[in-house]
Amino acid sequence: MRFQKALHALNRPANGPSGGGESRYTSQQIALVTKTVTDKNSYATRQGNVFPRAKFYPRVHIRHHSRYNPRPLMAELIPAPFADLVARLHTEPVAQDAIFGLPRKKWFVPRPGGPDMSVRFHDGVAGNPSGPASGPQTQMAQNILLAFIAGARIMELKTVQVNDRLTIGRPCIDATNIGFNIEWSQELLVEQSLREYVAGAMLVEIFRQSPGLADDSARGPAGRVIYDMSLGYNLEGIRSEKVQRFLDGMNDASEMVRTLRSQIPSEYSAARDLDFPTRLSTSVTLSTFHGCPADEIERICEFLIGQRGLDVIVKMNPPMLGRERLEHLLHDELGFTDLTVMPSAYDTGLQYAEAVQLVGRLSAFAAARGRRFGCKFSNTLEVANHRQFFPPGNPSQYLSGQPLHVITMTLTDLFRQSIGPRIPISFSAGVDRQNFSPTVACGFVPVTICTDLLRPGGYGRLPGYLNSLADAMKAVGASTIDDFILDAFGQRQGAGLRAAEGGASALQWAGLLNTTIAAEKARRDPRYSAPQNRKIPVRIDSHLHTFDCITCDKCIPVCPNAANFTYPTPLSAFDCLDVVVDPGGSIQRVPGRRFEITREMQIANYADFCNECGNCDTFCPEYGGPYIEKPGFYGSVESWRRAAPRDGFVVEARPDRPAIRGRIKSAEYQLQHDPANSIYQWSDGRVELTIAGINHDEVRARLLAGLSGAHRMDMWIFHTLRHLLHGVLDRKWINQINASGRHS
Ligand code: SF4
Ligand code: SF4
Repeated sequence: MRFQKALHALNRPANGPSGGGESRYTSQQIALVTKTVTDKNSYATRQGNVFPRAKFYPRVHIRHHSRYNPRPLMAELIPAPFADLVARLHTEPVAQDAIFGLPRKKWFVPRPGGPDMSVRFHDGVAGNPSGPASGPQTQMAQNILLAFIAGARIMELKTVQVNDRLTIGRPCIDATNIGFNIEWSQELLVEQSLREYVAGAMLVEIFRQSPGLADDSARGPAGRVIYDMSLGYNLEGIRSEKVQRFLDGMNDASEMVRTLRSQIPSEYSAARDLDFPTRLSTSVTLSTFHGCPADEIERICEFLIGQRGLDVIVKMNPPMLGRERLEHLLHDELGFTDLTVMPSAYDTGLQYAEAVQLVGRLSAFAAARGRRFGCKFSNTLEVANHRQFFPPGNPSQYLSGQPLHVITMTLTDLFRQSIGPRIPISFSAGVDRQNFSPTVACGFVPVTICTDLLRPGGYGRLPGYLNSLADAMKAVGASTIDDFILDAFGQRQGAGLRAAEGGASALQWAGLLNTTIAAEKARRDPRYSAPQNRKIPVRIDSHLHTFDCITCDKCIPVCPNAANFTYPTPLSAFDCLDVVVDPGGSIQRVPGRRFEITREMQIANYADFCNECGNCDTFCPEYGGPYIEKPGFYGSVESWRRAAPRDGFVVEARPDRPAIRGRIKSAEYQLQHDPANSIYQWSDGRVELTIAGINHDEVRARLLAGLSGAHRMDMWIFHTLRHLLHGVLDRKWINQINASGRHS
């Protein structure tokens, strides 16, 4: 339900709570907006808006379904036309100094003369070891671009599997404090995933090679980027024609690149001449979730290495640590006594001893074929679903964040002692700004992040990681990552002595020795414990509606798909006069509801990019969920129709006659603006009103269907559509709807 204010309004009397000139914010709140007070009695937004903390409500994670319109379990993600993505990449920085909502001040720019953070990953070199983990940040083309802009250089693309018609409950992400999800693999079809990955890589290249956009360093070694595929979950699926086609496309993306290149708008034709990568990926990180047994994993790896010529990393599972040790850590040391590991997680899938053997065999298998093999620590931890956040029917949920960091560091240390220092390790578990540098010091490549990038600031949190790494490198006098590994924990000498014994280099030994130190530090650090991870985002005593909110903008960066956006509206406050049309077509004006807009910037949702993961609801200070209460705009009439009966809007491309269609509580409306004649034509399917653009007073009615009695047209809806239409088309603020200019 994307239009609850309208419905709320429809259900309340004309002189209800918003009548009589009242704003929905109290005068005390409005007065406080001008101050910058932040104390225990107030809540300050990023823009300095301050609201009283007087009445705090416990966080209630609200409904999984609209009260009004039943929703299918999954919202459909719809990739944007490549031309629109390219247009937005070029126009948004000019209009609002941002790209897909990420402001320039959050873009990663390496410090001049700063350390060389480049790393080797398989047989490639990346500008630094950071990247988004396979998950919500690598699902769509714009996500990949955003990750790159924020500094990520090794992209672990979202897992592709043969079953690409999954049904996942919504909401599916809860990053309130530690991190739970019920996500799985790609929500796009396999062929769409290929298109998104190629399109994302092309956007990255366009960004890198555009001097007006990217810093010079992006065109040098610091901008080198590697794409790593993620596949699941069994050999049969991976060998299927569908997944093989995907692998072929990632190995040779020339055809897709050719197609997308031709879609680059002529205004940006210089981008058509860029040398886009066509061999997009030569490596796979294999997801071993869902009980994939050891021999199946081995056969998959042999197939990928031997027959597909790929470098392979196998994801390990936290329960490999063993029940006793894992639960001692989780419950006794960290204090997460409310979490119960699913018993089946211990018994199914890869076991510790099997994994040690498997790593040895597959390393030799890969080396014999000139490929590389490594391990990733780790998958998320499957625990019982002990709360009401996720929809019923999900007995388990996947734990990430702080506790997983301690568990996974401990497992990695243990496992590394078993397999030795030479096996390459990639790491992802509760990585954040504070532990990124010590994790890099363990020699892990890449170090990937998911949960922390879902928190306020989103992708914009990543530059902080890289700046912290630069500081940590400077502190030990390291000018390269190799030097940092040797010196971060003072292990250069010890590692050298171990290396002299043979079998591995000093660098590899330093990585292993550092892992033991980093794991021990993590276990001792109280910031990973339950008492320090109970804080939940604040809510103020206010509910979202179509227009107005405290405009904190948190919902924009926390969306991994860049679905939420801002648009401008003029301030407005007046009492509507509704139009009553009789069966003969004559009209009468009667008092209607009050229409009011008290904020100059509004929030909307680009529904094609929104999979209703729920993350923006988690961090929105007001109740209701931006993706539910704020107007949702679809990218095409087709996707708007397919989304029925959900409420939503679509702006139609008519250069001299912009139009908006809206579905509100299952009723459909259409509004066309004829600027040349300064009129609007507004219809509800039964009556079409022609309304003067200047004062909205002069009205003519045309019956579209026979009326059996008086028919009332709610002018509040007309004014709402009018403001939405002009707001989202205002190219002073670029969004996915107006980026291409085709709609205005
Ligand atoms: S808009 Fe909100 S619910 Fe939709 S994808 Fe983004 S964060 Fe998730
Ligand atoms: S919808 Fe919520 S998170 Fe978004 S700007 Fe408004 S108050 Fe902030």
